[in-house]
Amino acid sequence: VRQLTEEKQKLLEAVARLEELEQQQKQFIGNISHELKTPLTSIIAYADLLEMYRDDSDLLEEARERIREEAGRLYSLVEKSLQLSSLDIYDFQTKAEIVQIVPILHEAAERLQAKAEQLSVTIHTSLTEGTVWADPDNLMHIVLNLLDNGVKYNKPGGTVTIANHRAVDPQGAEQMVITIKDTGIGIPEEAKDRIFDPFYTVSSDRSRARGGTGLGLSLVRSLAEKQHGTVQLMHSGPEGSAFAVTLPIHRPDTAPDYLL
Ligand code: ADP
Repeated sequence: VRQLTEEKQKLLEAVARLEELEQQQKQFIGNISHELKTPLTSIIAYADLLEMYRDDSDLLEEARERIREEAGRLYSLVEKSLQLSSLDIYDFQTKAEIVQIVPILHEAAERLQAKAEQLSVTIHTSLTEGTVWADPDNLMHIVLNLLDNGVKYNKPGGTVTIANHRAVDPQGAEQMVITIKDTGIGIPEEAKDRIFDPFYTVSSDRSRARGGTGLGLSLVRSLAEKQHGTVQLMHSGPEGSAFAVTLPIHRPDTAPDYLL
Protein backbone atom coordinates (compact mmCIF):
# COMPACT_ATOMS: atom_id res chain seq x y z
CA VAL A 1 0.00 0.00 0.00
CA ARG A 2 2.83 2.38 0.90
CA GLN A 3 4.42 1.71 -2.50
CA LEU A 4 1.15 2.48 -4.28
CA THR A 5 0.77 5.73 -2.37
CA GLU A 6 4.30 6.73 -3.33
CA GLU A 7 3.64 5.91 -7.00
CA LYS A 8 0.44 7.91 -6.91
CA GLN A 9 2.29 10.83 -5.36
CA LYS A 10 4.92 10.67 -8.13
CA LEU A 11 2.23 10.60 -10.83
CA LEU A 12 0.46 13.57 -9.27
CA GLU A 13 3.75 15.48 -9.19
CA ALA A 14 4.40 14.64 -12.87
CA VAL A 15 0.91 15.86 -13.83
CA ALA A 16 1.42 19.07 -11.86
CA ARG A 17 4.75 19.65 -13.60
CA LEU A 18 3.15 19.09 -17.03
CA GLU A 19 0.38 21.53 -16.19
CA GLU A 20 2.95 24.06 -15.11
CA LEU A 21 4.88 23.60 -18.39
CA GLU A 22 1.69 24.00 -20.40
CA GLN A 23 0.92 27.17 -18.50
CA GLN A 24 4.42 28.52 -19.19
CA GLN A 25 4.04 27.71 -22.88
CA LYS A 26 0.70 29.52 -23.06
CA GLN A 27 2.19 32.51 -21.33
CA PHE A 28 5.19 32.48 -23.68
CA ILE A 29 2.91 32.46 -26.72
CA GLY A 30 0.76 35.20 -25.21
CA ASN A 31 3.82 37.36 -24.53
CA ILE A 32 5.35 36.79 -27.92
CA SER A 33 2.12 37.63 -29.74
CA HIS A 34 1.90 40.87 -27.82
CA GLU A 35 5.55 41.69 -28.49
CA LEU A 36 5.19 40.94 -32.21
CA LYS A 37 2.18 43.22 -32.52
CA THR A 38 3.98 46.33 -31.24
CA PRO A 39 6.58 46.65 -34.03
CA LEU A 40 4.06 45.49 -36.64
CA THR A 41 1.64 48.24 -35.65
CA SER A 42 4.46 50.79 -36.02
CA ILE A 43 5.45 49.43 -39.42
CA ILE A 44 1.87 49.62 -40.68
CA ALA A 45 1.43 53.17 -39.34
CA TYR A 46 4.67 54.39 -40.96
CA ALA A 47 3.87 52.64 -44.22
CA ASP A 48 0.55 54.55 -44.25
CA LEU A 49 2.44 57.81 -43.61
CA LEU A 50 4.68 57.06 -46.61
CA GLU A 51 1.56 56.93 -48.71
CA MET A 52 0.01 60.12 -47.25
CA TYR A 53 3.12 62.34 -47.25
CA ARG A 54 4.81 61.45 -50.51
CA ASP A 55 6.26 64.96 -50.94
CA ASP A 56 7.64 65.54 -47.45
CA SER A 57 11.20 64.27 -47.71
CA ASP A 58 12.01 64.63 -43.96
CA LEU A 59 8.98 62.61 -43.00
CA LEU A 60 9.73 60.02 -45.65
CA GLU A 61 13.24 59.64 -44.28
CA GLU A 62 11.95 59.29 -40.72
CA ALA A 63 9.35 56.74 -41.77
CA ARG A 64 11.97 54.76 -43.68
CA GLU A 65 14.27 54.69 -40.64
CA ARG A 66 11.48 53.67 -38.26
CA ILE A 67 10.31 50.91 -40.58
CA ARG A 68 13.88 49.60 -40.85
CA GLU A 69 14.32 49.78 -37.06
CA GLU A 70 11.04 48.07 -36.20
CA ALA A 71 11.58 45.39 -38.85
CA GLY A 72 14.99 44.72 -37.27
CA ARG A 73 13.34 44.34 -33.87
CA LEU A 74 10.77 41.94 -35.31
CA TYR A 75 13.51 39.89 -36.89
CA SER A 76 15.42 39.68 -33.63
CA LEU A 77 12.24 38.75 -31.70
CA VAL A 78 11.38 35.95 -34.10
CA GLU A 79 14.95 34.66 -34.15
CA LYS A 80 15.38 34.69 -30.37
CA SER A 81 11.95 33.24 -29.60
CA LEU A 82 12.53 30.40 -32.06
CA GLN A 83 15.82 29.63 -30.37
CA LEU A 84 14.25 29.77 -26.91
CA SER A 85 11.29 27.59 -27.86
CA SER A 86 13.51 24.97 -29.45
CA LEU A 87 15.59 24.89 -26.28
CA ASP A 88 12.54 24.48 -24.03
CA ILE A 89 10.10 22.41 -26.02
CA TYR A 90 12.26 19.91 -27.84
CA ASP A 91 14.86 19.66 -25.11
CA PHE A 92 17.36 20.68 -27.70
CA GLN A 93 20.69 18.86 -27.40
CA THR A 94 23.86 20.80 -27.94
CA LYS A 95 26.69 19.21 -29.86
CA ALA A 96 29.58 19.91 -27.53
CA GLU A 97 33.17 19.63 -28.71
CA ILE A 98 36.59 20.98 -27.81
CA VAL A 99 36.61 24.59 -28.97
CA GLN A 100 39.46 27.11 -29.13
CA ILE A 101 38.19 30.12 -27.22
CA VAL A 102 40.25 33.02 -28.64
CA PRO A 103 39.01 32.88 -32.28
CA ILE A 104 35.37 32.84 -31.13
CA LEU A 105 35.72 35.77 -28.71
CA HIS A 106 37.73 37.66 -31.30
CA GLU A 107 35.16 37.09 -34.05
CA ALA A 108 32.29 38.15 -31.75
CA ALA A 109 34.12 41.41 -31.01
CA GLU A 110 34.70 41.95 -34.76
CA ARG A 111 31.06 41.32 -35.54
CA LEU A 112 29.95 44.07 -33.17
CA GLN A 113 32.60 46.54 -34.27
CA ALA A 114 30.39 48.45 -36.74
CA LYS A 115 27.53 48.82 -34.25
CA ALA A 116 29.97 49.95 -31.53
CA GLU A 117 31.47 52.57 -33.84
CA GLN A 118 28.03 53.90 -34.69
CA LEU A 119 27.36 54.43 -30.97
CA SER A 120 30.90 55.76 -30.27
CA VAL A 121 31.74 52.81 -28.03
CA THR A 122 35.12 51.03 -28.10
CA ILE A 123 35.45 47.27 -27.71
CA HIS A 124 38.63 46.06 -25.98
CA THR A 125 39.78 42.46 -25.83
CA SER A 126 42.15 40.85 -23.35
CA LEU A 127 42.23 37.22 -24.43
CA THR A 128 44.15 34.17 -23.24
CA GLU A 129 44.52 31.03 -25.39
CA GLY A 130 42.67 27.95 -24.16
CA THR A 131 39.95 25.46 -24.97
CA VAL A 132 36.44 24.86 -23.63
CA TRP A 133 33.99 22.00 -23.92
CA ALA A 134 31.10 23.70 -25.74
CA ASP A 135 28.97 24.06 -28.85
CA PRO A 136 30.76 26.75 -30.90
CA ASP A 137 27.53 28.24 -32.36
CA ASN A 138 25.92 28.48 -28.95
CA LEU A 139 29.03 29.98 -27.44
CA MET A 140 29.02 32.59 -30.21
CA HIS A 141 25.35 33.43 -29.43
CA ILE A 142 26.13 33.85 -25.74
CA VAL A 143 29.05 36.18 -26.32
CA LEU A 144 27.30 38.17 -29.08
CA ASN A 145 24.25 38.78 -26.88
CA LEU A 146 26.30 39.95 -23.89
CA LEU A 147 28.58 42.14 -26.01
CA ASP A 148 25.56 43.57 -27.82
CA ASN A 149 24.03 44.57 -24.47
CA GLY A 150 27.36 46.09 -23.36
CA VAL A 151 27.43 48.22 -26.50
CA LYS A 152 23.69 48.97 -26.59
CA TYR A 153 23.33 50.03 -22.93
CA ASN A 154 26.46 52.19 -23.03
CA LYS A 155 27.22 55.91 -23.30
CA PRO A 156 29.06 57.68 -26.14
CA GLY A 157 32.81 57.42 -25.44
CA GLY A 158 32.27 54.28 -23.32
CA THR A 159 34.02 50.92 -23.54
CA VAL A 160 33.19 47.21 -23.43
CA THR A 161 35.97 44.83 -22.43
CA ILE A 162 35.87 41.12 -23.12
CA ALA A 163 38.43 38.98 -21.32
CA ASN A 164 38.89 35.35 -20.29
CA HIS A 165 40.84 33.39 -17.70
CA ARG A 166 41.04 29.85 -16.33
CA ALA A 167 39.66 29.00 -12.89
CA VAL A 168 38.74 25.96 -10.78
CA ASP A 169 35.17 25.46 -9.53
CA PRO A 170 34.37 24.39 -5.92
CA GLN A 171 34.33 20.70 -7.00
CA GLY A 172 37.84 21.03 -8.40
CA ALA A 173 36.84 21.02 -12.10
CA GLU A 174 38.72 23.36 -14.40
CA GLN A 175 36.64 26.00 -16.10
CA MET A 176 36.99 28.99 -18.39
CA VAL A 177 35.58 32.30 -17.20
CA ILE A 178 34.63 34.86 -19.83
CA THR A 179 33.93 38.36 -18.53
CA ILE A 180 32.16 41.14 -20.38
CA LYS A 181 32.46 44.46 -18.64
CA ASP A 182 31.02 47.77 -19.79
CA THR A 183 31.10 51.41 -18.72
CA GLY A 184 27.40 51.77 -19.53
CA ILE A 185 24.23 52.99 -17.87
CA GLY A 186 24.06 50.21 -15.24
CA ILE A 187 21.15 48.08 -14.02
CA PRO A 188 18.90 49.37 -11.21
CA GLU A 189 19.08 47.39 -7.94
CA GLU A 190 15.45 46.21 -8.12
CA ALA A 191 15.93 44.83 -11.66
CA LYS A 192 19.05 42.75 -10.98
CA ASP A 193 17.12 39.59 -10.02
CA ARG A 194 14.83 39.77 -13.02
CA ILE A 195 17.03 40.56 -16.02
CA PHE A 196 17.39 36.84 -16.90
CA ASP A 197 13.57 36.35 -17.05
CA PRO A 198 12.10 36.00 -20.56
CA PHE A 199 10.61 39.28 -21.89
CA TYR A 200 11.85 41.28 -18.91
CA THR A 201 13.14 44.73 -19.83
CA VAL A 202 14.28 47.23 -17.22
CA SER A 203 12.06 49.93 -18.65
CA SER A 204 10.35 49.41 -21.92
CA ASP A 205 11.45 52.90 -23.03
CA ARG A 206 15.17 52.44 -22.60
CA SER A 207 15.13 48.90 -23.98
CA ARG A 208 12.86 49.59 -26.93
CA ALA A 209 14.78 52.72 -27.91
CA ARG A 210 17.81 50.43 -28.21
CA GLY A 211 16.04 47.68 -30.12
CA GLY A 212 15.64 45.34 -27.12
CA THR A 213 13.28 42.37 -26.86
CA GLY A 214 13.83 41.21 -23.27
CA LEU A 215 14.76 37.76 -24.60
CA GLY A 216 18.53 38.15 -24.91
CA LEU A 217 19.62 37.28 -21.38
CA SER A 218 17.12 34.45 -20.91
CA LEU A 219 18.48 32.89 -24.09
CA VAL A 220 22.05 33.39 -22.85
CA ARG A 221 21.22 31.65 -19.57
CA SER A 222 19.47 28.68 -21.27
CA LEU A 223 22.36 28.26 -23.70
CA ALA A 224 24.99 28.44 -20.95
CA GLU A 225 23.14 25.89 -18.79
CA LYS A 226 22.72 23.51 -21.74
CA GLN A 227 26.50 23.50 -21.97
CA HIS A 228 27.02 22.81 -18.25
CA GLY A 229 27.99 26.43 -17.78
CA THR A 230 26.66 29.42 -15.88
CA VAL A 231 26.11 33.10 -16.49
CA GLN A 232 25.76 35.76 -13.85
CA LEU A 233 25.74 39.47 -13.30
CA MET A 234 28.91 40.14 -11.29
CA HIS A 235 28.14 43.75 -10.47
CA SER A 236 26.38 46.76 -11.85
CA GLY A 237 26.23 50.39 -10.83
CA PRO A 238 26.60 53.90 -12.23
CA GLU A 239 30.12 52.96 -13.43
CA GLY A 240 28.74 50.13 -15.60
CA SER A 241 28.03 46.40 -15.47
CA ALA A 242 30.03 43.16 -15.62
CA PHE A 243 28.75 39.70 -16.60
CA ALA A 244 30.66 36.42 -16.22
CA VAL A 245 30.11 33.21 -18.17
CA THR A 246 31.76 29.99 -17.03
CA LEU A 247 32.17 26.91 -19.22
CA PRO A 248 33.80 23.58 -18.44
CA ILE A 249 37.23 23.04 -19.94
CA HIS A 250 36.90 19.24 -19.85
CA ARG A 251 34.00 17.05 -20.89
CA PRO A 252 31.63 17.45 -17.91
CA ASP A 253 31.14 13.67 -17.40
CA THR A 254 34.86 12.90 -17.26
CA ALA A 255 37.15 13.88 -14.44
CA PRO A 256 39.94 16.29 -15.32
CA ASP A 257 43.32 14.56 -15.90
CA TYR A 258 44.87 15.71 -12.64
CA LEU A 259 42.14 13.92 -10.63
CA LEU A 260 42.56 10.54 -12.34
P1 ADP B 1 16.96 43.26 -24.32
O1 ADP B 1 16.71 42.48 -25.55
O2 ADP B 1 15.83 44.18 -23.94
O3 ADP B 1 18.29 43.92 -24.32
P2 ADP B 1 17.96 41.35 -22.37
O4 ADP B 1 17.29 40.12 -21.90
O5 ADP B 1 19.23 41.20 -23.13
O6 ADP B 1 16.87 42.15 -23.18
O7 ADP B 1 18.22 42.30 -21.12
C1 ADP B 1 17.18 42.54 -20.17
C2 ADP B 1 17.27 43.96 -19.61
O8 ADP B 1 18.47 44.08 -18.83
C3 ADP B 1 17.37 45.02 -20.70
O9 ADP B 1 16.10 45.56 -20.96
C4 ADP B 1 18.32 46.07 -20.14
O10 ADP B 1 17.60 47.15 -19.59
C5 ADP B 1 19.08 45.36 -19.03
N1 ADP B 1 20.49 45.13 -19.41
C6 ADP B 1 21.02 44.00 -19.96
N2 ADP B 1 22.36 44.12 -20.13
C7 ADP B 1 22.69 45.35 -19.68
C8 ADP B 1 23.93 46.08 -19.58
N3 ADP B 1 25.09 45.55 -19.98
N4 ADP B 1 23.88 47.33 -19.05
C9 ADP B 1 22.71 47.87 -18.63
N5 ADP B 1 21.51 47.24 -18.69
C10 ADP B 1 21.50 46.00 -19.22
